[in-house]
Amino acid sequence: VSRFERPVNTRVFVVANQKGGVGKTTTTVNIAAALALKGLRVLVVDLDPQGNTSTALNIPHAEGTPGVYEAIVDGTDLAELVKPCPDIPGLTVLPATIDLAGAEIELVSLVARESRLDRALQSYLKERAEAGDRFDYVLIDCPPSLGLLTVNAMVAGREVLIPIQCEYYALEGLGQLIRNIDLIRAHLNPKLEITTILLTMYDGRTRLSAGVAEEVRSHFGDKVISTPIPRSVRISEAPSYHQSVVTYDRTSSGALSYLEAAREIAMAGSRGSNR
Ligand code: ADP
Ligand code: MG
Repeated sequence: VSRFERPVNTRVFVVANQKGGVGKTTTTVNIAAALALKGLRVLVVDLDPQGNTSTALNIPHAEGTPGVYEAIVDGTDLAELVKPCPDIPGLTVLPATIDLAGAEIELVSLVARESRLDRALQSYLKERAEAGDRFDYVLIDCPPSLGLLTVNAMVAGREVLIPIQCEYYALEGLGQLIRNIDLIRAHLNPKLEITTILLTMYDGRTRLSAGVAEEVRSHFGDKVISTPIPRSVRISEAPSYHQSVVTYDRTSSGALSYLEAAREIAMAGSRGSNR
């Protein structure tokens, strides 16, 4: 198995799009799994109260299980909360439980409400690096909203990865997402950049998919990963087996596309650029 090159510094991705069902969770799970299978050290932060990322990576997240809620609201050290993915060496997960649903409101009255994840994450990353066990990638899976949880992700991250579903309403709401990212950059995190766009649920037989892809490429240029992720039954059934598609069916078109997309992301990082 060929390995991907390690980035010069830990790359922290925010996987965001306030539309639901566009492939944020599927992308987080499969890009993370692909990077880890290629020899990299990866941390996934599940920031959606639904906990679908935790489910797909086979991490227990029943109500009451300590996870990202405790990190953000109580300030618990991440070292006490993360779990190794049992099926993929090198992959570590900070799970989300339904308890996180309350955090959106509880955060409002807390000090430094926008930067609580950043604080917790940075101190854990530093601790691991000093122990000689540096993470190469962090992927934060956002909920389908632009509320305080997503703001916390955008303050903690450096690169935004936007999955765009190749469907008719795909571009609706993107303007609002971009304006929010601009606001975060202006006021809370000057280093935040949209570096990566991934086309998901692509159907090569339809003109609609091709049209959306063309429009996205004309707007975002080389930030768009050249491999679109096809619509695939294997991708959608993998989570019910608590698996990523790259472990569930390695040779399926969905798995190969996610591996190829992960390779493009890793290559951008090894060039040292901040694409
Ligand atoms: P989000 O996190 O943005 O809400 P998900 O990743 O949960 O989106 O995807 C929404 C639904 O679409 C899920 O049921 C998922 O399994 C399915 N799905 C995602 N990507 C694909 C794909 N490429 N092909 C088929 N189904 C997909
Ligand atoms: Mg999701």
